[in-house]
Amino acid sequence: MPPYVAGKPASADAFKLSSNENPYPPLPGVLEAAVTAAASMNRYPDMGNAALYAALAEAYDVPATDLAVATGSTGLIYGLLSAFCEPGDEVLYAWRSFEAYPIAVLAAGATSVQVPLLADGRHDLDAMAAAVGERTKVVLLCSPNNPTGPALTQAEVDGFLDRVPDDVLVVLDEAYIEFVRIDGPVDGVATYRGHSNVTILRTFSKAYGLAGFRVGYCIAPQPVAAALRAVTLPFGVNLVAQAAAVASLAARAELLERVDALVGERTRVLAGVRAAGWEVPDAQGNFVWFGFPDQPERIAAFVAAAEGLGIMVRPLGTDGVRVTIGEDEANDRLIRLAETFER
Ligand SMILES: *Cc1c(COP(=O)(O)O)cnc(C)c1O
Repeated sequence: MPPYVAGKPASADAFKLSSNENPYPPLPGVLEAAVTAAASMNRYPDMGNAALYAALAEAYDVPATDLAVATGSTGLIYGLLSAFCEPGDEVLYAWRSFEAYPIAVLAAGATSVQVPLLADGRHDLDAMAAAVGERTKVVLLCSPNNPTGPALTQAEVDGFLDRVPDDVLVVLDEAYIEFVRIDGPVDGVATYRGHSNVTILRTFSKAYGLAGFRVGYCIAPQPVAAALRAVTLPFGVNLVAQAAAVASLAARAELLERVDALVGERTRVLAGVRAAGWEVPDAQGNFVWFGFPDQPERIAAFVAAAEGLGIMVRPLGTDGVRVTIGEDEANDRLIRLAETFER
């Protein structure tokens, strides 16, 4: 199995733009909830995650039995695939997409079917629908797509679902949903309400800034949620993480203002990068994609130039480099990189 390659940590004077983290420090109220919970570290967390399920059920107006939480939505992806797949079953997804997909598929003993993205970084939903076959168990859709950035529209997803048999589980990975600003974006919750085979994955890691605490959640038809609860690690979401997630939902409005600020920075960065002559795909997450298909030397040179400017970025195979929208100063450096790196 290939190892998961994490973003490089930043040296003291560099900005880490390699892991799509939220650059803002925790809100005081969220930090306080976590610190308070930490005082009970000798106790197991609530195995039923009752407070967190109640808060999520209220936030999304869904039954608590349609929810499952785990150690990040990565934990939910592993859980879903191990619950649903047997050796020989196929898991279909676009590529390049989230690095964890191929590893989780292998760990579940299933087989990956990767459908290349379109040249503009979008899912090729026609080709994906055509690739669904007898052995397809799960389809993973990633919107916005990590690492390229475009988001799916409701019309695209509806058209795709019409072409996929009901017994194929379609998982919509919406890790960056809060950052999407397109017209007619897919509404994962509405889509789950209308289909018995649609499951959505969300996370507290990105918009909510809890990457270090590892909390993801799934909104799914009850049998899928029950299967996930059955296979995921008991007591996986620890008590500090549960408390911080509940406090974050309570502070949702304030946290989403920060997302607005990051979206503003994303607009500024895209404008700067494009003004410098780069053709980058639509960026609907908290990151920008610089594609260098099959140009490993150029990728290495770009990464080195970024490091020279004090920003750590994320090369992905021989496809390109993903750069997170970070602190304003870090974003200035990225624009400078785009202006000075020879295309
Ligand atoms: C970051 C990310 C996740 C999940 O992150 P967790 O920290 O495990 O919740 C899931 N999917 C995509 C596409 C991501 O980029």
